[in-house]
Amino acid sequence: MDRARRRKFGQNFLDVPTAVAIASDLPAEAGQAVLEIGPGHGALTEHLLNRGVQLTAVEIDEQCVEVLNEKFKDYENFFIENIDFLKFDLNHFLEHHEKPWVTGNLPYNVSTAIIAGLMPRLHLTKGFMGMVQLEVAQRICAQPCSKNYGSLSVLVSAYANTQILRKIGPEHFTPKPNVDSATMLLTPRQNPMDFQGANPEKFFDFVRAAFTQKRKTLANSFDKKYNKKKIQEAIELLDYPTTVRAEELSPEQFLEFYNVICK
Ligand code: SAM
Repeated sequence: MDRARRRKFGQNFLDVPTAVAIASDLPAEAGQAVLEIGPGHGALTEHLLNRGVQLTAVEIDEQCVEVLNEKFKDYENFFIENIDFLKFDLNHFLEHHEKPWVTGNLPYNVSTAIIAGLMPRLHLTKGFMGMVQLEVAQRICAQPCSKNYGSLSVLVSAYANTQILRKIGPEHFTPKPNVDSATMLLTPRQNPMDFQGANPEKFFDFVRAAFTQKRKTLANSFDKKYNKKKIQEAIELLDYPTTVRAEELSPEQFLEFYNVICK
């Protein structure tokens, strides 16, 4: 076992029964396009290919790519790109594939970067169904006023309906990770958030700043980049209670607040 490689690429391979169960949660039908991130040795891939989907896998590790090319050499519905997904031209892929499903047992070290990059393009897909660390899934799927609600929840729920599907313990992987995992379903919102001309990246920077000291009231929770007086004035103007905290604002309320301060 190449331990350094496995750690570097976040490689924890699923056992077959768990992979079958997870693959069965992806509602992709024969002939539809599927994009799989981090196929590893093809645990999920195999069951999806046997269902007849047109599957493009994006895998960073050339050793895994060799294994996959050999394993699936007789499959005409298998395509693979040997590249870091964070450098993969997702826009180009989406231009050439009709609303694919996106899936994968994501490498934990880059899972939030992958999900954050996918969100603005989620409406060009049927959705994402895949696995991340349980704690990350809980943050992504958290609702306002709950303990896990934070900037990642706001970012994802601006674009997606979210649902945790399965919790998966470390015993289902080789090697065993130190954390629990969960699969989640993220489908495009029918009425995605209207940014009303605001720049989404600047807006999400603002949301992250609002959660810098999330135990404090909103007037005191921001980092120094934002003017405290302006924040207090916006809270008054919007008639929020003076005790309001960042975790109480829905994504839409955050946008309203941002537009008062930054527009
Ligand atoms: N899908 C397999 C399974 O469930 O058994 C492997 C999952 S393993 C948690 C994560 C996979 O993502 C590994 O195969 C790893 O090499 C790959 N990977 C890691 N970083 C990646 C990246 N930046 N882009 C694409 N693949 C990556």
